[in-house]
Amino acid sequence: MNTLVDFFSKLFDTSDWPPRWYCGNWTDFHGWLYLFSDLTIWAAYMAIPLVLIRFIIVKKGVPLIRVFWLFGAFILLCGFTHLLDATMFYWPAYRFNAVIRFLTGVVSIATVIALIRYFDEAVGLRTSQEYNMELRIRQQVEQELRRSNEELQQFAYVASHDLQSPLKTIENYLKLFEAKYGEGLDENGHRIIDTTTAAAGRMRGLINDLLDFSRVGNSIEFETFQLDELVSEICDELQNDIAQTEATIDVPALPQLTAHRIDMKRLFQNLITNALKYHKPGVAPEVKLSFRDEAGLYLFSISDNGIGIEKTYFDRIFLIFQRLHGRGEYPGTGIGLATCKKIVEIYGGKIWVESTVGEGSTFYFTLPKMINPLRYYAQENQLHSVG
Ligand code: ADP
Repeated sequence: MNTLVDFFSKLFDTSDWPPRWYCGNWTDFHGWLYLFSDLTIWAAYMAIPLVLIRFIIVKKGVPLIRVFWLFGAFILLCGFTHLLDATMFYWPAYRFNAVIRFLTGVVSIATVIALIRYFDEAVGLRTSQEYNMELRIRQQVEQELRRSNEELQQFAYVASHDLQSPLKTIENYLKLFEAKYGEGLDENGHRIIDTTTAAAGRMRGLINDLLDFSRVGNSIEFETFQLDELVSEICDELQNDIAQTEATIDVPALPQLTAHRIDMKRLFQNLITNALKYHKPGVAPEVKLSFRDEAGLYLFSISDNGIGIEKTYFDRIFLIFQRLHGRGEYPGTGIGLATCKKIVEIYGGKIWVESTVGEGSTFYFTLPKMINPLRYYAQENQLHSVG
């Protein structure tokens, strides 16, 4: 302990040693070469941490930043030992020099440990070449995905569009057949015609829904409209269903929106129609719309007191053609919610459901307040019909 106290009390005391010039026989050349080299090394060692600090400041978010700082301290201290070596020619502070060397040793070992510890992580860091390569691959995959998506949309649009015309012919000829030969047909013959007409009607519904689905995102004609008016327009069109089921629809004051009006109408229409359709037998549907103004987006919800949905199907129902009920129970094509999801996501929002079987369902969706039309890509001019 005494040794330590004695040592540190004389930290800068130079009386025990002569300056290095007088220690041994230095020639001028030898001494100045020593001095010059040590000072050059010190200057270089000072510059490296400065460059590192500048790098850390300029390139924000540098990974493994602690290793950078340690490495900088290590270089700085190494440089300092060379500066002290040079000053010893005039100022023989051997105790202070020993302390600085000890500190340098500690920081050097800490740097080695840090380098070993973070070696795997450092190996995992991408070089700019690797990063560019990854970016190129990603861009190629995105391009391919976009192309196949557009092709698929084009196929859905063309197929559904062109199927309409032969379907119309089938329906018309069935009507003609019944009008012309109906009197001569027995009960079985009439049933066959009725079944075929109903099937053609279902196919028309499916084709129309598929067309609606493929049309989402086709037009960039945005307009500003009052959502209240749009919802009351939908309710007017659903008057028959509302009257038949004795439903009540509760609509709060809704905001103004700038978007493609037809998309918004499809979105609200599908959700309100489902809320009316999937009601419990003998129970009048109670449908409630609500909306919340949240930072940067609107959160809408449409809830009902209907049959509800099992939790396992919460995701599946948003996939195209996924239905939880047979046609005999509830009519439908299984395209409505897929269309809603496509609309909401193309606008940059999210859609999800919460439901309890036997109690009802609430469909939630978000829409950004400021919809970016660039998300919205037009592809109408790429579509060609064969008919
Ligand atoms: P569709 O109604 O034509 O069958 P959707 O895509 O609109 O197709 O809905 C998919 C399925 O999700 C429906 O078949 C139904 O089983 C379920 N579903 C949708 N909305 C509701 C709702 N409000 N309550 C209960 N089930 C619903």
